[in-house]
This record gives sequence, structure tokens and C-alpha cells, in this order.
Amino acid sequence: MSTFERLSGAATLEVVVADITTLAVDAIVNAANSSLLGGGGVDGAIHRAAGPQLLAECRTLDGCATGDAKITQGYRLPARHVIHAVGPVWHGGGSGEDAALASCYRRALDLCQQHGLASVAFPAISTGVYGFPPERAAPIAVGTCIETLKTTPFVTRVVFCCFSEPSAALHRAALSATLD
Ligand code: ADP
Repeated sequence: MSTFERLSGAATLEVVVADITTLAVDAIVNAANSSLLGGGGVDGAIHRAAGPQLLAECRTLDGCATGDAKITQGYRLPARHVIHAVGPVWHGGGSGEDAALASCYRRALDLCQQHGLASVAFPAISTGVYGFPPERAAPIAVGTCIETLKTTPFVTRVVFCCFSEPSAALHRAALSATLD
């Protein structure tokens, strides 16, 4: 697998094309819905790979607001934890979608910092069923992480785990635009 890496301060930001359920990082981020009770896409894949204990823990969390995130164990995943972030549903871009998407990345990194987790992998939150345009989401994802990493010194590795080569190209371009 080819890897694209850039440094920002003490942190490495990477872009990979992979199934996020295979990554052995401290935390993978789930693009969850507000019920936290499972769904399709990456959410379904994470619950299938983690096993039923993940859903059992999620049932205790009382859901999650859009733009927020909650942490669980990773169970059968190679990742130690899952951070369930609820991205915005795209309604045309005038309903706070950009801010809510940025908030997901910020909250996830804040949780890593609070829980002492150094490495985290993100999917392209909201760009599947939730319909957020991928070319608009990638610079928000990358820019928010670079900004937030200044205040989350424990986090030293951020992986943008893309599910397609076009998605990876958007994230590489956003990283290059900011850090090259
Ligand atoms: P949302 O409802 O937030 O849009 P989706 O799961 O539908 O969430 O899609 C979010 C992104 O995750 C999409 O870019 C999709 O291609 C990607 N994706 C789906 N399955 C996986 C997976 N196993 N690993 C990484 N990314 C995935």
C-alpha cells in the first residue's frame, strides 16, 4: 500500500486507501448516525468487524449529537478504540454543514488527547450516504486536523483512511496545499 505523509509540528498526517476496520491504530473514527446503534457504510463495517459487544456498549451511550463524538472500546478490531462521530447530513451547504463536519474532527482529536491515544484514523465523514460533497469535505477534514493538532500534543499520527483513490487524491491535495 502506498502511503502519503506530511509533517505538521510533531505529528504525521497520512493518506491511505484502505478498509478502516483493518487498521491497527489507537482509535478508528466511525461515521456514525445520532442513534449510535449502527447503520450502513463504514458504520456497518465497523460493527461487523468489532462484534456484538460494540453495539452493547453503544446502547449505553444515549446517542450523540451532530458534530459531537463519543468513544468506546474496539473489541475484535485491531484498533483499541472506536470514536463514533456524527457528521452532518448535507442540505445544500447553508445549514451549518461545514462547521458540524469540522466539529467532528475536532471532537475526535480532543477525545484522543483526553484518553492518551497517539494514533487515529478517520474515514471521510459524511461523504457517503450523508451526501457531503467530497471535494468540499477533504479540505475541512485536513485543515481542522492540522489546526486542532496544535492543542492535542498527545496525538502524533493522523491517518485519513480513504475508501477510493479519488477520495485519497482529494486528501493528498488538501495536505499539500496546506503543508508543502
Ligand atoms: P456517512 O453517512 O457519514 O456519509 P458513509 O459510511 O456512508 O458515512 O460514508 C463515509 C465514507 O466512508 C465514504 O467516503 C465511504 O466511501 C467510506 N467508507 C465506507 N466503508 C468504509 C470502510 N470500510 N473503510 C473506510 N472508509 C469506508
